[in-house]
Amino acid sequence: MAFSEAHRNIFQTELNGLKEQGLFKEERIICAPQSSEIEVSFPFGAEEKRVINMCANNYLGLSSHPDVVEAARKGLDHRGYGMSSVRFICGTQDIHKQLEQKLTEFLGTEDTILFPSCMDANCGVFEAVLTDQDVMIADRLVHASIVDGMRLAKAQQDTYKHSDMEHLEKKLELHQDKRLKVIITDGNFSMDGDLAKLDKIVELAEKYNALVFMDDSHASGFIGKTGRGTHEHCNVIGKVDIITTTLGKALGGASGGCVSGRRELVEMCRQKARPYLFSNTIAPVVVEGALAVLDLISRSTERRDKLEKNTEFWRKGLTEGGLIIKEGETPIVPVMLFNAKLAQDFAKDLYEMGIYAIGFFFPVVPKGQARIRTQLSAAHDMHHLEKALDAFLKVGKKHNILHKTKQEIIDMYGQ
Ligand SMILES: *Cc1c(COP(=O)(O)O)cnc(C)c1O
Repeated sequence: MAFSEAHRNIFQTELNGLKEQGLFKEERIICAPQSSEIEVSFPFGAEEKRVINMCANNYLGLSSHPDVVEAARKGLDHRGYGMSSVRFICGTQDIHKQLEQKLTEFLGTEDTILFPSCMDANCGVFEAVLTDQDVMIADRLVHASIVDGMRLAKAQQDTYKHSDMEHLEKKLELHQDKRLKVIITDGNFSMDGDLAKLDKIVELAEKYNALVFMDDSHASGFIGKTGRGTHEHCNVIGKVDIITTTLGKALGGASGGCVSGRRELVEMCRQKARPYLFSNTIAPVVVEGALAVLDLISRSTERRDKLEKNTEFWRKGLTEGGLIIKEGETPIVPVMLFNAKLAQDFAKDLYEMGIYAIGFFFPVVPKGQARIRTQLSAAHDMHHLEKALDAFLKVGKKHNILHKTKQEIIDMYGQ
């Protein structure tokens, strides 16, 4: 047997190292459909506990919506379970083309190509579109999947300080002579819940003859007046050249992603993007579910409007109650605790009180910026939020951090 005790020890040592550094991830097990209330078993096999869910990307509450489930079921009946082929050999159904068309309409672009996930979209798009004569200039806080996608491309890499438009302009000046310059940003940055200054970015792109790439995974479906995303919010629909997004968050939450944008760029992906060419695409059930989602949210903004109201209530309640949140307007609301241990203890106390939220600390966020990231959903009703708010304030009181300044909290707990 080639895998010897010595081999095992190499990995055991590394895993133990992660545990010692507090970086070992353990998963809570949900024993129910994803929703605003879930049954959780932790550790696996332990007695199930019913909790209010404050940490899913289920922004529109569509993960278990009856219309979506019903559409998926129909998809199963009409188009079967799986494709058993990649798209370009014999894995494209009519419904895949329909979904691409619907996404194009919804995002206000020219064309769309589906990927197995947004991670795959980001890993495929740069290599497919760019050459070694080009440069990619990325915001320093872009999602990990973009970082990986950039690594796979031959184009030169550069970055600008988070949302710092002066710094971006300097970098654009620096790379004037490149064949293509691509500015790369998230739409809604998921750790802080802050939106890209997309109107400014488009302005700079026009001034310096650059392209704009945006990953709108944490915005598609609910940011902007009709939920089209950050480009709608910033009034630049039609001016973002490449949008990637996921079907795994607000848009039904199952799986799948896409690249949407200029016709020729999408076609380049169809010809050359390796995660598209060499991996199965989205299963028919998921395609039908996603079509139902787009139908639902194109017909009415009711869910996105409810999410906005929930967000306002939550942000106001936490602030007035004396907790420190990252200011903003999105349904990603980080409650700042600054100290990693405090964030862990806080989350544990919340869980005891029936609220499921997770502490984030280094290396997920910078040192000294530990927090609990809360996320609102249209699936939350007022009684959920009232109960959750009450718990947050009680736990805040227990740890003596209500109506304290950042400095006072750091003096008490350290960073
Ligand atoms: C979640 C997320 C992804 C990954 O999406 P998947 O479809 O689950 O692979 C990519 N980019 C951003 C910004 C995300 O938040």
